[in-house]
Amino acid sequence: MTKYIFITGGVVSSLGKGLSAAAIGNLLKARGLTVTFLKLDPYINVDPGTMNPYQHGEVFVTDDGAETDLDLGHYERYTSITMSKENNYTTGKIYFNVISKERRGDYLGGTVQVVPHITNEIKHSIKAVAKGNKNQVDVVIVEIGGTVGDIESLPFLEAIRQFPFDVGRENVLYIHLTLVPYIKAADELKTKPTQHSVNKMREIGIQPDILLCRTDRALASDLKKKIALFCSVELSAVITARDVASIYEVPLVFHHEKLDETIVKKLGLKTPKPELRRWKRIVRVITKPKGRVRIALVGKYVDLKDSYKSLYESLIHGGIGNQLGVDVEWIDSEDLEGKRVDRILKDCDGVLVASGFGHRGIEGKVSAIRYAREKEVPFFGICLGMQCAVIEFARNVVGLQKASSAEFDPKTPHPVIDLLPEQRHLVDKGATMRLGAYLCHIQKKTRAYGIYRERAISERHRHRYEFNNIYRDQMEQKGMIFGGLSPDGKLVEMIEIPNHPWFVAVQFHPEFKSRPDEPHPLFQSFIKSAHQLFIQRTQDKTVVEKTSRKNRRKK
Ligand code: GLN
Repeated sequence: MTKYIFITGGVVSSLGKGLSAAAIGNLLKARGLTVTFLKLDPYINVDPGTMNPYQHGEVFVTDDGAETDLDLGHYERYTSITMSKENNYTTGKIYFNVISKERRGDYLGGTVQVVPHITNEIKHSIKAVAKGNKNQVDVVIVEIGGTVGDIESLPFLEAIRQFPFDVGRENVLYIHLTLVPYIKAADELKTKPTQHSVNKMREIGIQPDILLCRTDRALASDLKKKIALFCSVELSAVITARDVASIYEVPLVFHHEKLDETIVKKLGLKTPKPELRRWKRIVRVITKPKGRVRIALVGKYVDLKDSYKSLYESLIHGGIGNQLGVDVEWIDSEDLEGKRVDRILKDCDGVLVASGFGHRGIEGKVSAIRYAREKEVPFFGICLGMQCAVIEFARNVVGLQKASSAEFDPKTPHPVIDLLPEQRHLVDKGATMRLGAYLCHIQKKTRAYGIYRERAISERHRHRYEFNNIYRDQMEQKGMIFGGLSPDGKLVEMIEIPNHPWFVAVQFHPEFKSRPDEPHPLFQSFIKSAHQLFIQRTQDKTVVEKTSRKNRRKK
């Protein structure tokens, strides 16, 4: 019998429901259980693909080509379980299904209503995900987006209130994430917001079983007792969810609070203790790295770090793979325009140019790439980053000065990046890009092959534009290497340039497949090369210092 864990949030948003869900999944998997996730998002967009990253943060792309909430990225990173379109439902998607059924006549004769039609559709999505790929999973972790008290999330909360009547109360656990703020003036942690939040849940008809109390310090046992009493939960179910320096510590903090033990006990599951050795090793490298590198992440949505969530995490993973810490310098590509790029980027050991849409900031990206190419600084381009690398090469090496992408300069005489043929006649914007996993064939004797050590790889995509093959020969003659192509050879997937410490750019998004315990080879190799530059620079500096000291002594 599948068990269902529902995670809700109260008091304020951004308390880390997604990370908590992922961390719980991590611990249950470490106890030998099969787990899957479902993220329920209360907005009306069918998926986040049509939203601005500033509104929503990153759009996480799954193998099967779904554009999903960034929490699915956390789920994959913490458990290595592959997510699909079934693992994320929005209000829009639920209504879309119900309205399609209504038009088909499935409810003929009836009035279609929020209860029971919408709530039934929500419950159906929860039960569907429990079926798993092959076998029914042991535990489904369902995260409800938004904060209790919002109008939008009410149908989801009503559906999960009804859920125990379908599957049995003993198979359901409600976990509520709340805030216990420290009030400086009173020098005290306050429990009232948590009490109110739990009351709000009770009004809806849900009594939480476990409370995850987000706080910046440990909760003393008196305080835990007070929360337990006022909120009607057992003392052992009041968990301190303390702030941590690295997000990868969360499973260990929860385990220390015996959260996994409480969960399995309450759900009547018999499991061995969790195997956490591998995870502890990751956290050890993060907290005590052997060295550090500084990477410039050049993008246009850098004010909201969540916009590049998977990219940032993949850089951290690349660091873990080399036992290094990674300091990310967030650089708004627009800020590079008309500036001395060499001055801005001089302390960075590597430059990563990120993905994006639209023309804003493009010229800044192009100059960052030129700097990295000419100054032999490791460079990694991703999606739009690859497209900008092609533009830079076309302009400054091939001599096509007005080269650009048809996306931001439709009249360019040299559209070195152009629309994919199948994109030309599309009208709809939602879910119409080249999305999801595609095979890529790697050419032998390339850096790409040296990194992957495989001829056929699969990576996830999200783009409308691609390298324009008309320019392939010209670019090749000037030294660009097309290291990875689609199996039919028609689409350029990876480019590189020789005689450079590390210059690789890819049309796909490797960041969606990197894990802390299995860093993506491209990120691992990029960080290694950045560290080599760091060492070289430190040695050069020491030589300069020694010589100038010697010279001074001679004088
Ligand atoms: N805007 C570009 C395209 O649609 C790049 C997309 C991206 O970086 N994800 O092709």
